[in-house]
Amino acid sequence: MKIHHGQATVKTEAPVSVQNVTEVVTREVGGSGITDGLAIVSVPHTTCGVCINEDEAGLREDIRDMAQRLLSPLRGAAGFRHDRVDNNAQAHLTSVLLGHSVSLSVKDGKLQMGGWQSVFLIEMDGPRSRTLHVQVLGE
Ligand code: ZN
Repeated sequence: MKIHHGQATVKTEAPVSVQNVTEVVTREVGGSGITDGLAIVSVPHTTCGVCINEDEAGLREDIRDMAQRLLSPLRGAAGFRHDRVDNNAQAHLTSVLLGHSVSLSVKDGKLQMGGWQSVFLIEMDGPRSRTLHVQVLGE
């Protein structure tokens, strides 16, 4: 089995944003020399996440709005405890729900994704420079 460790920097441009990173993943898989196996896409951060969904402009805005508002009702009168430390509890909590990685099958040198699927990095505490890891395992 071969293992390829790839990474890229993704610059996010807003406090909360949804960015298509499929091209980065495709490039890393293509350059890995691995034609059959598994690609693991992850972020080494605690206030952003990775997901797979459809790249449609309205839906990207809907996902962004969801990431912004999803946990607001839980804030309560006393607020989130972590906000007393660095005021980004909601970004951490949304990251917990989204998860920090996705796995994709690689077959015949190609990512096994549906025609409507894209890989997104969801920024919740930007704008920042984020690292995207793409590990490819297989033959
Ligand atoms: Zn924090």
